[in-house]
Amino acid sequence: MKTEHSRRIPATALFVFIGAEPCTTWLDEQIAVDHNGYVLTGPDVPADAVTDLRQGTPRRPYLLETSRLGVFAAGDVRSGSIKRVASAVGEGAMAIRFVHEHLRLRQG
Ligand SMILES: Cc1cc2nc3c(=O)[nH]c(=O)nc-3n(C[C@H](O)[C@H](O)[C@H](O)COP(=O)(O)OP(=O)(O)OC[C@H]3O[C@@H](n4cnc5c(N)ncnc54)[C@H](O)[C@@H]3O)c2cc1C
Repeated sequence: MKTEHSRRIPATALFVFIGAEPCTTWLDEQIAVDHNGYVLTGPDVPADAVTDLRQGTPRRPYLLETSRLGVFAAGDVRSGSIKRVASAVGEGAMAIRFVHEHLRLRQG
């Protein structure tokens, strides 16, 4: 939280952690995000937020799937993600598996 106050903190080292804000305002209301702007996926997506471009009865989103079925999110932008390189890469790899599952269902 930003305040107008400053204070001195005695420290021997400093870890600058900047750049951890999601750039998701452009998503508008197309894809559900949490109160900090991180994209909701899987079980975190509220049932009434799920949409399906094919207008069918929407199923629940897969683990890394957003509120818009067929759209997936991986890495830091995802709400609740670990915020580490290895997990972002791993989620990207996992998402492909769910993309295939989504396409398989579509082909019926
Ligand atoms: C200061 C700092 C130190 C860190 N140190 C470590 C560490 O030591 N070890 C570790 O494992 N992790 C560390 N992390 C975390 C790590 O950097 C992230 O977890 C990782 O980079 C996430 O990868 P990502 O692909 O999800 O997101 P990013 O690496 O942030 O990549 C997202 C990309 O999308 C681009 N982008 C955003 N919006 C749009 C748009 N609308 N259109 C097109 N492109 C867009 C961005 O410019 C960016 O290039 C650190 C993070 C910070 C900020």
